[in-house]
Amino acid sequence: MILMDGKALAAKRKSELRAKVDKLPRKPGLAVILVGDDPASRTYVNGKRRDCGECGFYSEEYTLPAETAQAEILALIDELNGREDIDGILVQLPLPKGLDSRALLDAIRPDKDVDCFHPVNVGKLFSGQKGGFAPCTPAGVMDLLHEYGISPKGKHCVVLGRSNIVGKPMAALLLAEDGTVTVCHSATPDLARKCATADILVSAVGKAGLVTGDMVKEGAVVVDVAMNRNAEGKLCGDVVMEEVAEKAAYLTPVPGGVGPMTRAGLMDNTYRAACRHLNVSPD
Ligand code: NAP
Repeated sequence: MILMDGKALAAKRKSELRAKVDKLPRKPGLAVILVGDDPASRTYVNGKRRDCGECGFYSEEYTLPAETAQAEILALIDELNGREDIDGILVQLPLPKGLDSRALLDAIRPDKDVDCFHPVNVGKLFSGQKGGFAPCTPAGVMDLLHEYGISPKGKHCVVLGRSNIVGKPMAALLLAEDGTVTVCHSATPDLARKCATADILVSAVGKAGLVTGDMVKEGAVVVDVAMNRNAEGKLCGDVVMEEVAEKAAYLTPVPGGVGPMTRAGLMDNTYRAACRHLNVSPD
């Protein structure tokens, strides 16, 4: 079994970006809005700031109290939409109760929507049009598959989870590369049998211990997107590593698999947004 090293690939992607950024007339700019004091969100935002530094980007962070009014956040997004030095705007999810996250995400200008949540970018993704953004986590998974020479073409790809952030865009990207895709969710009967037919199994549910060895076909590629805490408080995915490692040909670790690739994907989108704003080729 080969462990797919997302940490190493993400580091390589960030240093590639750093070299390209040095040739731009100005730094790509990312603005991150964090509302409330969710500790996991705080950690993610800190990570994004560090990534921006490593890639040579300019970054700004807006930390707002949980009781901030929707209108105030909308006004901030509006201001950032109009700024020439800001190429990407990110609203850290989840938002505190009472805020309408859909309305806030829809207010971000599509060309600054580096998380790929705006309906214009989602529409481009699902209709195969160019010019949108790649959703960070699924795009990171595809980059990892490519790096290890794995193509979804002609393969049965089973995606566990149908969220707008991971499951649905993951299915779209696998389909776009000629995979035959089955998407499973909480109402899917006989999950184990469906998983056992997967050549490529992507789990994005958020339930530790969900994917056991008997659910995995011999020689399958297993990508664990989930980030859970086990009984000891240790970070883990959906996959029972010890069991699945006996069957899979390729497997992503948690941590060190998809997580770092998601962060590298955000940096890539911010760079691409800057290139569009500066009217230069990203390559
Ligand atoms: P989410 O919005 O809660 O979606 C979870 C999905 O799993 C839903 O579609 C749900 O079905 C489905 N589900 C729940 N129980 C199931 C079961 N027993 N069998 C099959 N499907 C089931 O979560 P998310 O935002 O997509 O995130 C999923 C996981 O990935 C979480 O652990 C999250 O922390 C992690 N994540 C990691 C990264 C990364 O960078 N590594 C990025 C984003 C998310 P219904 O639709 O029917 O409810």
